[in-house]
Amino acid sequence: MMTDECQFSSASIFQGSGSDVRRHTRPGAPAAVLPGQEPWLVAKAVIGTGPQPTTAMNPIFAELPTTIFEVMSRHARDTGAVNLGQGFPDDPGPEDVRRKAAEAVIEGWNQYPPMMGLPELRHAVSEHYRHWQALDFDPEAEVMITSGATEALAGALLALIEPGDEIVLFEPMYDAYLPLVRRAGGIPRFVTLKPPRFALTEEALAQAFGPRTRAVLFNNPLNPAATLFSPEDLDLLASFCRRFDAIAICDEVWEHVVFDGRRHQPLMSCEGMWERTIKIGSAGKIFNLTGWKVGFVCAAPAIMRVLAKAHQFLTFTTPPNLQAAVAYGLMKEDGYFESLRRDLARSRDRFTTGLTDLGFDVIPSEGTYFLNIDIARFGDADDVAFCRRLVLEHGVAAIPVSAFYAEGAVKNVVRFCFAKRDETLDAALERLSGVVRQAA
Ligand code: PMP
Ligand code: GLN
Repeated sequence: MMTDECQFSSASIFQGSGSDVRRHTRPGAPAAVLPGQEPWLVAKAVIGTGPQPTTAMNPIFAELPTTIFEVMSRHARDTGAVNLGQGFPDDPGPEDVRRKAAEAVIEGWNQYPPMMGLPELRHAVSEHYRHWQALDFDPEAEVMITSGATEALAGALLALIEPGDEIVLFEPMYDAYLPLVRRAGGIPRFVTLKPPRFALTEEALAQAFGPRTRAVLFNNPLNPAATLFSPEDLDLLASFCRRFDAIAICDEVWEHVVFDGRRHQPLMSCEGMWERTIKIGSAGKIFNLTGWKVGFVCAAPAIMRVLAKAHQFLTFTTPPNLQAAVAYGLMKEDGYFESLRRDLARSRDRFTTGLTDLGFDVIPSEGTYFLNIDIARFGDADDVAFCRRLVLEHGVAAIPVSAFYAEGAVKNVVRFCFAKRDETLDAALERLSGVVRQAA
């Protein structure tokens, strides 16, 4: 197994794909050290920014550091830290859904399923969204199953972007977005959202949209902010999409993970958005089974026809047994989805109370598996240095939120995943008390 050094940037995980490094890597060149990159965290990883390959590779991927999630999880494994970095629950997920998958492996079909997904799953997706979001999709023409939301995002960007098209991105943004946009030839136009509300403004949208805008990539609820956009935000964004004739790629993987009686409203339900939206969901988040890469894409037939072409040459299909189990799961009674939210909200509250009692400033979490703290009170705010101290000295892995910004990084916010057992959260709180003692 190859073991390279793996670093991550003090400024941004996106640094490696900046326009200043748009050149082909030289064969045999030493590891790229990029402007502003601080190799504080050296973890053994199978991928990373180690020796360059002996042949020229595309610089967008060649010069990217390893994702922050992999780096922090790797570090937590190596040091025995409590891992509240990468977002995954530490319970095994609903047993009935896992049993369905096991049964489907033993007794079901294990050859290629239909390219668009098992008919039973496409029908279940359609039924599910009719019930929960009052959206009416034709399962034959408007629903496609992909290998996770990640494939759906990659496919949508490849299918849509012509080199030179502008794509509006909201930062903080999920780490896969920017490299995929750039690799497809898109030019990112950023809307920078700031804590604690991470709200949209008309001025920011007016600066980002223009005549070359092809699409907007919109994540709601927003990871890592843990916020849900308001109906007014959605109407405002929809009005820009209509005015500039832009397609909205909506990453709604967290649609079920919303708290305190909130309801997710899909952008697609706004006026004039049906025929210009690609809605993306993920079974991983709905069933607390993040390793199950089963995504759903819903779009009007004219768009879906092209998305299907991208899917047919990216993965073509998704394991049929997992699809069968997800079809079963989506039809579960409302109580399952309500208890998913209730249980996660309870964990959020336990962790929020623990952090607040210790003296941390918690930014309220409205959804997702995450909550953020504002570290400004710990002196000169540097989230990367803070996370380094946290994992190396105190044994808790977290994610510096500046990693989700390409420009205008916010440096005073740190993300924790609270989708954990009580014992895990309590162990983390015990260790975090050391941070406060040290700062006193
Ligand atoms: N988008 C967002 C905003 C996410 O948080 C994640 C993973 N947590 C994904 C996409 C990827 O989803 P999947 O695992 O289904 O590929
Ligand atoms: N979505 C997960 C998170 O935000 C990470 C997924 C990944 O590691 N690629 O933590």
